[in-house]
Amino acid sequence: MKWMSKTFTFVVIPDANQSVQQFRLPIMILIVVPAIIALLAVSAIVFFSLYSKHSSFNNDLQAQLSASAAKYEQQLTEKEGSIADLQTDLVQLSEQAETMERKMAEINELEAELKQIVGINPDSSPASSSKIVVEEGGQGGQELPLPDGASDSLASEAMKQYSSIGERLEAMKPNLEETKQAVLDYQKMLNVTPTIWPADSRKVTSLFGIRQDPFTGRATYHNGVDIGGRTGDPVYAAAEGVIILSEKDGTLGNNVMINHGRGIRTRYSHLSKRLADVGDKVTKGQLIGEMGSTGRSTGPHLHYEVIVNGGHVNPIPYIKADREEP
Ligand SMILES: [Zn+2]
Repeated sequence: MKWMSKTFTFVVIPDANQSVQQFRLPIMILIVVPAIIALLAVSAIVFFSLYSKHSSFNNDLQAQLSASAAKYEQQLTEKEGSIADLQTDLVQLSEQAETMERKMAEINELEAELKQIVGINPDSSPASSSKIVVEEGGQGGQELPLPDGASDSLASEAMKQYSSIGERLEAMKPNLEETKQAVLDYQKMLNVTPTIWPADSRKVTSLFGIRQDPFTGRATYHNGVDIGGRTGDPVYAAAEGVIILSEKDGTLGNNVMINHGRGIRTRYSHLSKRLADVGDKVTKGQLIGEMGSTGRSTGPHLHYEVIVNGGHVNPIPYIKADREEP
């Protein structure tokens, strides 16, 4: 290590007129100082390179963070929009439930009317509740946002309304079945009851009861009604039944009798033509003969009788006045 103790002498000549200056430096310094500078330089390069890498990583991270934040912001806005839509849907559902309840009340009222028509006592169905009904019309006021938790209570209210509607619909079913059966029975009864005009003509030429006999002029009992018309006009069965008589008689001429059951019979006389035989089943309104003037008659007409439990009754109250077509 002898060379380390060696020195280098630097001569500096500043100017021709000035004296020469000499510096003597040990060789060690000449090696160590540049080495330290080089080391520092390398360190600085490494440091700056690391720093710049780190800072670009930081920038990336920040960019990602702000992108995420923007995304979340957008999602939040969308969610808020969805919640508002759901709340609106809930309100609409509640309104629909109210409409359904209203319609159910209407159905209940219709059913009660139907029951009255067919002669069943309308029971104490919960149709006429004292509920306030909201109707179409002017509205107004300040529109405030829904308070927190309003959606929950709206949802549970709508659920309650719908489950109550379900229960009531279920309860209505047996009632409606009963009414349906009653209507069917009523219809069956109506089919075998002589409620229609037995001819197209509505011209009554002689009423039921005491009258002056057209042949003798004496007071007699007329056991039916006479409906005036033309020979050949259709004569209809006033109700469903079975033909129990189809004959030609000196007084009643060509006549047909129908048994409708329940003790009710109808008879059609003075026909020009009989179009039904004993044993034939006929439906209400079926053609059974043609109008005429056979037997004891002054002109073409239908002598129509209604017999209940063997006795003659006035046919007019049986005929529905509002019925246009036979
Ligand atoms: Zn008569």
